[in-house]
Amino acid sequence: MYESKDAYFFNEDHVAFRDSVRRFVQKEVTPKADEWEDRGCYDKMIFKRMGDLGLLGIKYPIEYCGQGADTRMNLVWMEEMCRCKALGFVMSLFVHTDMASPALNNVGTPEQKNKYLRGVCTGEKLMAVAMTEPNHGSDVAAIETRAVLEGDHYRVNGAKTFITNGTQADFINVVVRTGAPGVKGVSLLLVDTDSPGFSVSKKFNKTGLLSSDTTELVFEDVMVPKENLLGKENQGFYALMTGLESERLSLAVLAYMGAAMALDESIKYAKERIQFDRPIGNFQAIAHQLADMATDLEASKRLVYHAALLYDKGIKCASEVSMAKVFAAEAACRVVANAVQIHGGYGYIREYLVDRLYRDVRLFNIGGGTREIMRDIIAKEMGFRSR
Ligand SMILES: Cc1cc2nc3c(=O)[nH]c(=O)nc-3n(C[C@H](O)[C@H](O)[C@H](O)COP(=O)(O)OP(=O)(O)OC[C@H]3O[C@@H](n4cnc5c(N)ncnc54)[C@H](O)[C@@H]3O)c2cc1C
Repeated sequence: MYESKDAYFFNEDHVAFRDSVRRFVQKEVTPKADEWEDRGCYDKMIFKRMGDLGLLGIKYPIEYCGQGADTRMNLVWMEEMCRCKALGFVMSLFVHTDMASPALNNVGTPEQKNKYLRGVCTGEKLMAVAMTEPNHGSDVAAIETRAVLEGDHYRVNGAKTFITNGTQADFINVVVRTGAPGVKGVSLLLVDTDSPGFSVSKKFNKTGLLSSDTTELVFEDVMVPKENLLGKENQGFYALMTGLESERLSLAVLAYMGAAMALDESIKYAKERIQFDRPIGNFQAIAHQLADMATDLEASKRLVYHAALLYDKGIKCASEVSMAKVFAAEAACRVVANAVQIHGGYGYIREYLVDRLYRDVRLFNIGGGTREIMRDIIAKEMGFRSR
């Protein structure tokens, strides 16, 4: 196994927590990974189980049943969850804890947090976030799903696509248009999925991340109580932005953990596989690939740890987070491609983890902001504006 020298970054509490999450994952999650991949979705009960064990809402306030822990603890938790080998499930989990719910924690009212954030932390209410629409992906500010205030309710009409957790979620943070075109007419609504008029119109067959569900959602005259408006009307875009760094960091962790597992598999294989009377790792061509893989992994982790600390300290870090995400996602693709190569024909066979990882990590260049959009954000901070 490849071990990063991370001791300087974590204290005794982090190390103890890592051990306990690792044991939980080995005992209760990894044994289910293959079944979830085959079935195309995880078992929702795992969320409740994790909530009972205090393994959800690591960074959320204790008063809402979170753990009130720091960013490093959340990093430890994320890294260990990835070791279950079903990155699809882990992405669904991170959508719940680090992508859909940050805006609720950041701008929700105490009543909304009591009703919804508490359920996120206990695992009793599974959450999704619905930004993307069939005609609007990267350009979130152009979304068309309409919410019109009628008395005490918003009437919601529209469609969302590629939504993770769509078939399982109990409520969704839905990005809607309540005002003029552009960023200033966007709001966030918490929509219960048992509301009349809400339906899942499609579950996609994906390339990878098979243990998570990815769906198309339809809203037909869904009536949402006014008190479910998250933040202020027409300021939803800014509320959504408060959670984007957390979303991108969690995707970057998924990416480098995919790389870390692919590297471990490759080291093991390079020591065991004999060709021309010697382990293939003794050929310099293979050893150098392994060296490149480890270097990519280290660089990814350092960028993510740095960006995570900036985020933790409240320092503006959109650019650093984008650097971490774009680098980790691209590096993960390089690493898993090398891992497949090192495994030869076996790397192309479904039972082998590297085959799964090869299909999984591609998404991290697309979801949560594509690599092109990440570069736009970095370039913008240097004074270049392409939009
Ligand atoms: C498995 C999966 C899970 C997902 N989960 C969710 C979810 O839970 N919730 C959710 O809301 N969304 C989710 N998404 C959607 C995801 O966030 C979008 O796919 C992503 O933001 C890109 O949008 P798009 O697919 O519409 O591509 P487009 O925006 O149409 O982009 C197509 C191509 O054009 C490029 N491009 C676009 N604009 C520019 C520009 N200005 N400059 C340069 N290049 C540009 C893009 O980078 C890309 O390469 C998920 C997607 C997948 C595949």
